[in-house]
Amino acid sequence: MPECQTLVHAGVLVTQDAERRILAPGALAIADGLILDAGPAAELAARWQPRERLDLGNMLVLPGLVNAHSHAAMTFLRGLADDMPLMEWLTGRIFPVEARLTADIVRTGSLLGFAEMLRTGTTACMDMYLFEGAVLEAAEEAGLRCTGGEAVFGFPSAACPDAGAALAATRGLAERYAGHERIAVAVNCHSVYTTTPEIIAACRDLALELDLPFHMHLAETRDETARCLEEHGRRPVDYCRRLGVLEARCTFAHVVDVDEAELDVLAASGAAVAHNPSSNMKLASGAAPVAAMLRRGLAVALGTDGPASNNQCNLFQEMGRAALMHKLVSGDPASVPAEAVLDMATLGGAAALRAPHLGALAPGMAADLIALDLAEPNLQPMYAPVSHLVYAATGHEVRLTMVGGEVLYRDGRFSRFDYDALRREVRALRDFVLG
Ligand SMILES: [Zn+2]
Repeated sequence: MPECQTLVHAGVLVTQDAERRILAPGALAIADGLILDAGPAAELAARWQPRERLDLGNMLVLPGLVNAHSHAAMTFLRGLADDMPLMEWLTGRIFPVEARLTADIVRTGSLLGFAEMLRTGTTACMDMYLFEGAVLEAAEEAGLRCTGGEAVFGFPSAACPDAGAALAATRGLAERYAGHERIAVAVNCHSVYTTTPEIIAACRDLALELDLPFHMHLAETRDETARCLEEHGRRPVDYCRRLGVLEARCTFAHVVDVDEAELDVLAASGAAVAHNPSSNMKLASGAAPVAAMLRRGLAVALGTDGPASNNQCNLFQEMGRAALMHKLVSGDPASVPAEAVLDMATLGGAAALRAPHLGALAPGMAADLIALDLAEPNLQPMYAPVSHLVYAATGHEVRLTMVGGEVLYRDGRFSRFDYDALRREVRALRDFVLG
């Protein structure tokens, strides 16, 4: 009988594999951070000789969720300023605090964001911020997968005097993390409204040269479109297309103010979209045409955006809100069904991170999984597990979070860092913001 490191026994196993198998009970054979086998529990018990068993018999096990657009460090701004328009919020409340930022503040804020992600079932994220080197160090400490890069702006940030320095920092990170199992690098071109054509072209060049994903906020609001038309004579998607951006492997956050022809262009380019329902609703940015994106075969993922515009780093909340908002805006209760939403949070996220080994529990895929406690009252009774994951679960039913076969969170405890010590550091963050 072949040996495996761990045999996971799950009360219910939602695989997200090609057949979308749901097995009750199901099992997973794991070794070297990968899934070797997935199937009915009795079959795997007869097939594998494990060195250890992980009994999750009263749990619902599914692939770890992928947060395709985050600013994890911004936990330090959570709840500072709500209920304001985007540009006023960004320039009046967020940018002034960010102008004083330090790498230490970013590291602590990021670790808090990653703690929340692991606690609520996220195992990978695509992150954009200043001092992104400190973000990636926090991700290494927390243990989750993170694809990040220094945010590139057309003006000085606290971390970089100009766009050239931000791109040099990104290049440095790409060298530092080349071949890393969990940390990857993207070119984070902030947006069309915070950069110039020359900066966007330089970002594209670096993405193509180093074969890195190109991650950008795009077509977030009608204001952005109006400004792009005024300054560059084109709408944001066309402006980026003309600059050659779509030649890179693009992940665009938001993509709210787009028309049918622009969706065709994005679909033909192979771009992925990170949909951020909470942020879009909170800032009244509008509803991204997600149903139209899915009809075209565009890869659509879910993101939390930053905790200043959400205010959570919880993908379960994004799943529920995504499913509901598109029904409300379309007037069609069949729009964006639960299965499509779970696909966005798993397989869509893998597409956005350009990480095809994530998003499903099947042989050869990463052993990134989460387990929800089926004893919780809001998960009973259960007829359709995917319905519960999207409409009933909050994320706080997560009892175990595993990345690459390593348990990073279990029953209130983080395995790699001291959460109580982190909470004491978070108090200093508040003093920094108010000071
Ligand atoms: Zn964002």
